Amino acid sequence: MQKKTFVTKEQIEEIVKDVPTPFHLYDEKGIRENAVAVQEAFSWNPGFREYFAVKANPNPFLIRILQEYGCGTDCSSMTELMLSDALGFKGGEIMFSSNDTPPEEFVYAAKIGATINLDDFTHIAYLEDLIGDFPETMSLRFNPGGFYRLSNGIMDNPGDSKYGFTKEQIIEGYRILKEKGVKRFGIHAFLVSNAVTNDYYPTLARTLFELCVEIKEKTGVKMDFINLSGGVGVAYRPDEEPADIRVIGAGVQKVYNEVLVPEGMGDVDIYTEMGRFMMAPYGCLVTQAIHEKHTYKEYIGVDACAANLMRPAIYGAYHHITVVGKEDAPHDHHYDVVGSLCENCDKFAIDRPLPEIEMGDYLIIHDAGAHGFSMGYNYNGRLRSAEVLLHEDGTHELIRRAETPRDYFATFDCFGIIPGLVK
Ligand SMILES: *Cc1c(COP(=O)(O)O)cnc(C)c1O
Repeated sequence: MQKKTFVTKEQIEEIVKDVPTPFHLYDEKGIRENAVAVQEAFSWNPGFREYFAVKANPNPFLIRILQEYGCGTDCSSMTELMLSDALGFKGGEIMFSSNDTPPEEFVYAAKIGATINLDDFTHIAYLEDLIGDFPETMSLRFNPGGFYRLSNGIMDNPGDSKYGFTKEQIIEGYRILKEKGVKRFGIHAFLVSNAVTNDYYPTLARTLFELCVEIKEKTGVKMDFINLSGGVGVAYRPDEEPADIRVIGAGVQKVYNEVLVPEGMGDVDIYTEMGRFMMAPYGCLVTQAIHEKHTYKEYIGVDACAANLMRPAIYGAYHHITVVGKEDAPHDHHYDVVGSLCENCDKFAIDRPLPEIEMGDYLIIHDAGAHGFSMGYNYNGRLRSAEVLLHEDGTHELIRRAETPRDYFATFDCFGIIPGLVK
């Protein structure tokens, strides 16, 4: 079974004339259409906002596209906060959902007016010590513990995850924040990752909505926003049924009407913090076959490696591969498609049925738009690749240059300790 690519062979042949492989390529049209679909799916909720999870893809050109559709950003670190601030996101458009947070990041988040979403009960006192008065708006992250099951069998284990407050802690947390004069309250939870289903958000919404009713009864705190966070999955495999954001939005609306509206909470804003769903399908890693090896298995070596896309190496994640121009050829070879790292996990595919690959063929590694470039690293002295945006009219634009040896050496040779190393 095949997956469609958003780029043609001719377009790739054009792009490689000025950007050598490997590079990450993004589909502007796809990003825009999906952003519109997300806004429409939640248009029943006037205060809805998607806070794009910057860690999924911190490229400012791409974040600016989402900004046009009213998206905010969800940040987990100082640099992500700095980037959001510099891109002109105003306080309420920046969410700071971090954990194990260094003090200076809380101080900076408060300074730029980001909404702070606390991960831990002890952070209430910690934050107060750091910044004095609490901001007017505060959010707390909930972890129900145990296992979290969806009706289609997807399960995750929040009881084993480091994030969030227990139920007792969160109720006490709202009580304290109310006493301390906080005016606007939010709640957040992220329980299942890459949930390729239309049930996850509605199920999570019910958990959170019912908890918010209980919090109101027990503490008098009425939630202003409920943040369903990220976790909506994408169909990495060609035979998977993709999640349908319109069905998801309608599912959340139904639970909202059932649980919140009768409790007089029909004015609560719904927020999301999707990363993967906003970007993964609209990016791919373009690489070239540079080596073939026939030993106990058949290997194809490409010029990208796990330093460009880490998911297969660290989670055994499936990323579909298209050999450009051979989409319809019989997939009668079984290859391990590998990068050059001195780590045997550096394999984009294992025993993958593919058409016969010749040296110089371009390979498209699909769904790399989120948690792709951003997870990159420099192991083996490999340099981060370029990022290219394919515009709607078919032209392309370099939106991040590739790293050079100079970048790699800069952090020590700014002292000039090795004369002649950095030219
Ligand atoms: C990673 C993360 C997200 C985005 O998750 P996706 O699976 O990419 O949608 C959102 N919120 C928080 C707090 C995260 O850590």
